[in-house]
Amino acid sequence: MKGKLYLVATPIGNLEDITLRAIKTLKEVDIIAAEDTRHTLQLLNHLEITKPLISYHRHNEEEKSDNLIDILLEGKNIALVSDAGTPVISDPGEEIVKKTIEKNIEIIPIPGACALITGLISSGLNTKEFTFIGFLPLNKKLRKQKLEEIEETTKTIILYEAPHKIKNTLEDLSKITKERKIVLARELTKIHEEFIRGTAQELLEKIETPKGEFVIIIEENEIKNKEEILNNLTLEEHYKFYQEQGLEKKEIIKKIAKDRNINKNEIYKKFI
Ligand code: SAM
Repeated sequence: MKGKLYLVATPIGNLEDITLRAIKTLKEVDIIAAEDTRHTLQLLNHLEITKPLISYHRHNEEEKSDNLIDILLEGKNIALVSDAGTPVISDPGEEIVKKTIEKNIEIIPIPGACALITGLISSGLNTKEFTFIGFLPLNKKLRKQKLEEIEETTKTIILYEAPHKIKNTLEDLSKITKERKIVLARELTKIHEEFIRGTAQELLEKIETPKGEFVIIIEENEIKNKEEILNNLTLEEHYKFYQEQGLEKKEIIKKIAKDRNINKNEIYKKFI
């Protein structure tokens, strides 16, 4: 019989944030594949668990995945963990998950702490729809593309960032997010947990020497949202929208032309 691959979430700071099921799984599997075996060993020592560890990180993902698949095919159960939080999210694991599915091996997720969700739920921003970007690329061209994508996105956006890059990232964000609110969720679940709120520019003034880990949550783009909503209205509905705000015909037509990026005369013709 084939073994099973367990994807086990571990704490993002506070060691009490581990589920009973995660502890049981770590105790019962045959092997634990860890991003950094020394780091995971600390958690296992805390939980008084002794298990063989195999390193599985970004730079050996390809080769180690095949190795782990062989072990699973031999009938052994493996738990995959990352240094903190949910494995596979901005962490190694995609490769082994794909290969496990290809080989018809069962995958069992053991959910738990995840920095992006922990940051988002405390942000006070729109949680109904959101876009998770992960880390911004460092490559100039790719970074520019991603920032343009952020500018165009109407939904709440979540980013991960390292402390030594946070200022640089806020500077880049300030050019495109302007007045949109941003929440820096710092050191989540740890002693120095804090939420710093403001526009990108205000945050740059608030944080001097940033320390710790950060999740960046950016407010939805209300202006673009409104534009999208207006563009989905019929011309008559669009006209009524401004009429109800008490605007004069001339002003309404000017606004509709701007919203829809069409010539004023086209709209005049429709309403004559
Ligand atoms: N897979 C993990 C997860 O989703 O929970 C994230 C791993 S990613 C390599 C690490 C990034 O997650 C950090 O650079 C930071 O942006 C964010 N992060 C992790 N733990 C955090 C914490 N306690 N407080 C704030 N951000 C955290």
